[in-house]
Amino acid sequence: MKFDVLTLFPEMFEPMKQSVIGRAIGKGLLEVNLINIRDFSKDKHKKVDDTVYGGGAGMLIKPDVVYDAYNSVKSEKSKVIFLSPQGKKLCQDKVEELAKSEEHLILLCGHYEGIDQRVIDKIVDEEISIGDYVLTGGEIPAMVLIDSVSRYIEGVITEDSTSEESFSGEGLLEYPQYTRPEEFEGIKVPEVLQSGHHENINKWRRREAIRITYQKRPDLLEKVNLTDEEKKFIEELENKG
Ligand code: SAM
Repeated sequence: MKFDVLTLFPEMFEPMKQSVIGRAIGKGLLEVNLINIRDFSKDKHKKVDDTVYGGGAGMLIKPDVVYDAYNSVKSEKSKVIFLSPQGKKLCQDKVEELAKSEEHLILLCGHYEGIDQRVIDKIVDEEISIGDYVLTGGEIPAMVLIDSVSRYIEGVITEDSTSEESFSGEGLLEYPQYTRPEEFEGIKVPEVLQSGHHENINKWRRREAIRITYQKRPDLLEKVNLTDEEKKFIEELENKG
């Protein structure tokens, strides 16, 4: 998977060199190219923004510099995503869809007041938001998108890690997990997890995933196929209050 990021602040992507994503880039599983929009300014002072027509606070990124930056990386297979608070909220289904169906993503990061609408209309295929709040720039949202999509690229992490995670598969949150020591501050690891009995472990995990989803995100349960026994278990949780 190739990501070309159009940004005014390529230095902000330093964290991508670390950990899992950094290793995946090192192994060639991912390509993350940072394209500095400022390099496409024809102005002798490298100016990339200007005041807003009609008045109002702040500066807007000019359309021509963004267009030239885009033209320097576009390909037949590229899809342009504009990170924007006005976009559709990023969710796990979207993350998986992008990982499966796209080979080349061009991520456009706004900054300041944003970007001139004409170039957005001309080049952007989709607008994606990372939540209903406004950030100073699209760089952190672009990193969120690269990180979440990359986890679904073959070889970046082991497949088992994604299949049972929160929001994956059926859409339940993940069950609680424990590691050594067996006892911490007087609290023991649940016995069933040490039993080696895989069927019982899977049953316990499924029940805990349902319990946690009920407690933290009951809205997610609407889409989950529950057995009669599981529905009864939820009723018991409801009755307990
Ligand atoms: N004036 C814009 C508005 O009200 O919709 C907000 C501009 S914001 C200060 C600057 C840039 O940050 C945006 O162009 C966008 O690229 C990015 N941004 C801010 N919040 C975001 C969010 N929640 N999700 C994705 N990108 C965001």
